[in-house]
Amino acid sequence: MPKPIRSQNVLATRAVTLWVLRAVSIFLMVYGVFLVLARITHGLIQRDGWVSMTAYMGVGSDHGIVRGFPMALAGVVLALLSRKLSRWIVAVPESGCVRCSYPRLGKPGICPECGYDDGEPSAGSD
Ligand SMILES: [Zn+2]
Repeated sequence: MPKPIRSQNVLATRAVTLWVLRAVSIFLMVYGVFLVLARITHGLIQRDGWVSMTAYMGVGSDHGIVRGFPMALAGVVLALLSRKLSRWIVAVPESGCVRCSYPRLGKPGICPECGYDDGEPSAGSD
């Protein structure tokens, strides 16, 4: 059984999650814009303008505008929602025991119900 996330680790876990989400969004934006620009450049080099932008490239080939624009748009949306997504993905544990949800009323230490040790010194120890 994986160890549950302790409340003091939530911020660090969220920071890593936010970093991953933003890295993915940057990749999507950069690669999407690259695909669109590659297609536009192809049209300029071929000197046939719009025909090159809309031409069917054949089975298995990639169409830069059809694939690149939605990819870049998805990257922008992911970047805008990344902070909310990281908070949604890494939820704050309930105030009770992180393993069994027994209400601990903010008392750190060993859970009296399941014995889970949250790593913090209990109220009575020094
Ligand atoms: Zn417990």
